[in-house]
Amino acid sequence: LFVDHPLSQGQTVPLDKDQSNYLFAVMRLKEGAFVALFNGRDGEYQAEITVANKRGGELVCHAQSKPLLMPPDLWLMFAPIKKARTDFIVEKAAEMGAAKILPINTDYTNSDRIRQDRLQAHALEAAEQCGGTYVPEVTELQKLDRLLADWDQTRQIMFCDEALVGAAEVLGAVKGDKWAILIGPEGGFSAAERQKLHDLPFAHPVSLGPRILRADTAAVAAMTVWQQHLGD
Ligand code: SAM
Repeated sequence: LFVDHPLSQGQTVPLDKDQSNYLFAVMRLKEGAFVALFNGRDGEYQAEITVANKRGGELVCHAQSKPLLMPPDLWLMFAPIKKARTDFIVEKAAEMGAAKILPINTDYTNSDRIRQDRLQAHALEAAEQCGGTYVPEVTELQKLDRLLADWDQTRQIMFCDEALVGAAEVLGAVKGDKWAILIGPEGGFSAAERQKLHDLPFAHPVSLGPRILRADTAAVAAMTVWQQHLGD
């Protein structure tokens, strides 16, 4: 269970109404039962329910069961598409160990509005689901141009596009431990964006194979290749 509260051995953790409802009404847990808690910062703790009632509850942390598992320094930047597919991208990115998820506005982005709070909740649920101890931040929608203007040039960009070089080859050749994957919208990148990205020394155009993948498939494929080569 995710709680936005510090965790350490002996720490008391209060529950809000929704959390209490989930544990005591849905899961039917009683005082004395143990629940695994994480907050995205302190790892996972086994906590004992000491107060259980409908309006609230309390747990006390016992031993740490998992240390904080920080993902490698990989960002996923993608142009939002249809709602369900955007949710899918965020969910899979969190499962696959993205450290940060950045929805971006490109020249051909299909949707210029996102619900950042909804997407952040999806990332949290995905981390919870796969037993992660870290929750990636989902940022607000940002313009690609603006993001690139302030770019930390030591962070390499795996620019997924029609390219002559395969992703694996590029990842094997380029040095750097901070990376961002860039996935375009359904309409791909504009000629101006391509030109700009080709001119940036830290952006590396890569192919994910001869087939044109949907953006959500491309995001998962790109993260898989990256994790296989540079991840842990
Ligand atoms: N017609 C579009 C175009 O001209 O690029 C296709 C866009 S594709 C549906 C959506 C995004 O997925 C692309 O912008 C790219 O980032 C990524 N993508 C899809 N297939 C790819 C491939 N084979 N290699 C590299 N990136 C790919």
